[in-house]
Amino acid sequence: MKKLFIKTYGCQMNVYDSARIADLLTPLGYAAADAPDGADIVVLNTCHIREKAAEKVYSELGRLRRLKEEKAEQGGRMLIAVAGCVAQAEGEEITRRQNIVDIVVGPQALHRIPEMIARVERREGRALETEFVPDEKFDSLPAVRAEGPAAFLTVQEGCDKFCTFCVVPYTRGAEFSRPVAQIEAEARHLAALGVREITLLGQNVNAYCGAARDGNSWSLARLLNRLAEIDGLDRLRYTTSHPRDMSRDLIEAHRDLEKLMPYLHLPVQSGSDRVLEAMNRRHTRDGYLHLVEKIRTARSVIALSSDFIVGFPGESDADFEQTMALVREVKYAQAFSFKYSPRPGTPAAAARKQVPEQVKSDRLQALQSLLAEQQAGFAKSCEGLSMPVLFEKQGRKAGQAVGRSPYLQPVHVDDAEHLIGEIHDVTIARALTNSLGGMLVAARPKAVAAA
Ligand code: SAM
Ligand code: SF4
Repeated sequence: MKKLFIKTYGCQMNVYDSARIADLLTPLGYAAADAPDGADIVVLNTCHIREKAAEKVYSELGRLRRLKEEKAEQGGRMLIAVAGCVAQAEGEEITRRQNIVDIVVGPQALHRIPEMIARVERREGRALETEFVPDEKFDSLPAVRAEGPAAFLTVQEGCDKFCTFCVVPYTRGAEFSRPVAQIEAEARHLAALGVREITLLGQNVNAYCGAARDGNSWSLARLLNRLAEIDGLDRLRYTTSHPRDMSRDLIEAHRDLEKLMPYLHLPVQSGSDRVLEAMNRRHTRDGYLHLVEKIRTARSVIALSSDFIVGFPGESDADFEQTMALVREVKYAQAFSFKYSPRPGTPAAAARKQVPEQVKSDRLQALQSLLAEQQAGFAKSCEGLSMPVLFEKQGRKAGQAVGRSPYLQPVHVDDAEHLIGEIHDVTIARALTNSLGGMLVAARPKAVAAA
């Protein structure tokens, strides 16, 4: 067997793509390795969303140079492939900066990796593919393999929204939705392999609009309703959503679909209308708050999550205070927050009023401590409650299993290793910093929702 090492950066869509790269290469005699040393091929599946993420790739390539040389000294060959959004955005520039790279492949062309490896092995020089052909990609990928009871399933790629800070429309291309039948077949296949929970992925997953056999375009809500009919599949989630695409039928799905978990990642980015407009978010602060109200009316207990950017060009102290006030009003169960990072080629990167680094750091710290407080508060509110947990893997302690609550929190339970792959009611005993500790409910009383 040849050794394949894949390192994944960035979002869950990259996690899905990396699994698909492994699915493509396994039939060709590659086995996954957990370190790059001595590997026959190393794939870096990269992220370009912030400068730090992109620079990490170049540092890693610096480290791989020595390993590639060592392998060559022993008469072997280590191929190095850069996949994902850095590959898409920087193309040949990567091989100019790091001549050890043999393959550069954008996210829409990853199905061509086997053929690119063959070309490089025939010593035809380097291979580069950065075309946008998402339908070809999904048509050409082999059947998925399941690695545990929870799986990702990409249903939508790309973005047409062009927020002024974001590279995604340039690296992942225009919005594309996979056809309903293709998604349903993949979900049924995963369920037959023992998968109990599927998270539907897309850069704008709730903009999903896929062709169905009935000749119509189906919304995400309709797709979720169809997938909820699959026996054995007990839990559905989706991410990431844009507030503008939070349609009525999707909100109703949160009310009506038992299998749809009470968790929603709904990025707002900022609480200031002035900043939202400069970001080209095409939603307002009030519009977002009204949406949150509608969602909570449909499903009273739901874990809300968001993304925030602090220090967007021109953001004043008053704008930032509006973000803090919005957070206090919404009360998030969990969230991600970032300092604005200027991305080459995006409109905001050229704005004159960039915010000083120290101001960005101070704002990020203030926001993150408020979000951490809210996350801890939500976790604390779960103490003493019973809730169904899908056990996914072994914990750190012998016999322990770790699963997910309906609200996506990791839950540790002792003496539950034998239950991996199953859903059981757990009483939450304590809230820890980033997880919950619980005990199995012996008899099965009716699950109580978190407050
Ligand atoms: N489509 C999603 C939405 O509109 O909410 C976001 C997808 S993006 C891959 C994930 C997050 O990265 C964004 O929500 C934003 O908070 C963050 N992000 C994107 N560009 C950024 C930048 N230039 N600087 C800092 N954070 C950024
Ligand atoms: Fe980026 Fe905006 Fe598209 Fe989200 S909606 S992927 S933030 S451009």
